[in-house]
Amino acid sequence: MIRDPQAFSQALQSIERHVRERLIPSEAEVEARDEVPPQLVAEMASLGYFGWSIPEEWGGQGMTTEELVLAAMALSQASVAFRARVGTNTGIGSEALVADGTPEQKARYLPRLASGEITGAFALTEPETGSDATALRTRAERDGSDYLLTGTKCFITNAPLAGLFTVLARTDPEQAGAHGISAFLVERDTPGLQTGQPYKKMGQAGSPVSEVHFDQCRVPAANLIGGREGQGFKTAMKVLNKQRIHLAALCTGPAIRMLEEAMRWTTQRHQFGQPVAQFQLVQALIADCQTDIQAARALILQTARQRDEGEDVSLQASVCKYFASEMCGRVADRCVQMLGGSGYIHGHPIERFYRDVRLFRLYEGTSQIHQLNIAKRTLAAFEAQQGRL
Ligand SMILES: Cc1cc2nc3c(=O)[nH]c(=O)nc-3n(C[C@H](O)[C@H](O)[C@H](O)COP(=O)(O)OP(=O)(O)OC[C@H]3O[C@@H](n4cnc5c(N)ncnc54)[C@H](O)[C@@H]3O)c2cc1C
Repeated sequence: MIRDPQAFSQALQSIERHVRERLIPSEAEVEARDEVPPQLVAEMASLGYFGWSIPEEWGGQGMTTEELVLAAMALSQASVAFRARVGTNTGIGSEALVADGTPEQKARYLPRLASGEITGAFALTEPETGSDATALRTRAERDGSDYLLTGTKCFITNAPLAGLFTVLARTDPEQAGAHGISAFLVERDTPGLQTGQPYKKMGQAGSPVSEVHFDQCRVPAANLIGGREGQGFKTAMKVLNKQRIHLAALCTGPAIRMLEEAMRWTTQRHQFGQPVAQFQLVQALIADCQTDIQAARALILQTARQRDEGEDVSLQASVCKYFASEMCGRVADRCVQMLGGSGYIHGHPIERFYRDVRLFRLYEGTSQIHQLNIAKRTLAAFEAQQGRL
């Protein structure tokens, strides 16, 4: 759903202009410095990027899912680092609070996340629990009016920069699985919280990711999201459902950009006396990229609209994330192929995107986990239908 088509179309054009005129020209600098320059972070904050999905009453733009995915597809046509810099605030770093926070928690943190004053991070994964997230071990023990958190989280996007962490921890050690898990808001300067050195990654330079350590980290009970123990995993699932659609859009922007770059190259590069784009085997690569991108875009927009209509999109969100992340990998591979040897040399955007987008198939549910989820839900729907006949 688009609330005001004319106003939104102008907003989208402004993002597209910013991407073209300011972000794309800075991509090489971001890669070389392994950082988004503070000036560009300030620009993105002033343009409201940090608050896209945060409700207007808390200082954000209150974008609907359809608006959010369209904005995400536009921003993610620039280096992945830019959208990763704002992406936790518009996604996993604020959504738990938006979905299940108390009014006091929302009032305290959402305006600062929306303005970009603080960066959010979402800490679920642990060294021993990745895909099997409900087995997490980080403990939160009640101590008077506080909780004491102890454990280690790994692979946390924006942890080195974050001012606020949404942390999933086990409040009830007797309850195995999801039921004993609660979600906490933990401020960066809380004694007992430490972040590790940023990892050296395959790609996504400029997007820092690190471990987070909790050693008897004292968190006020007022920072238990929603004020109730045992709800943390339900909250996390709500976050991830929306985030899967958002992430699918963030896989589509890079694919659009890579195809554009590949067409720029293949129409200029001559072999056998003609632009390589004239060869039908190269055209087949172009056609497959375009078809993949359009299929992903249509799927994402349809799912976003269904979510805005209040439908349960648990199955479709997984389908979107699985299809779009795999699609982006296929497009990256074909685009390197279209550039020949030049696509393998550091310095061309396609070489960078090829490395950057590999992550999409791994985080927020690997492709295998989404395949399992899609099959499980499809079979359940079939069995329910059979039961009704
Ligand atoms: C750069 C980066 C940023 C990240 N950001 C965050 C973040 O901000 N917050 C956060 O909480 N996490 C984050 N993650 C963690 C990410 O979500 C996990 O890496 C992901 O969930 C996979 O977990 P794992 O790495 O432990 O792999 P594993 O779970 O160990 O999986 C290894 C392999 O086994 C397969 N596998 C596992 N279980 C099954 C099964 N049941 N059936 C079939 N195959 C299976 C997987 O698909 C995979 O191929 C990030 C990771 C990276 C690398």
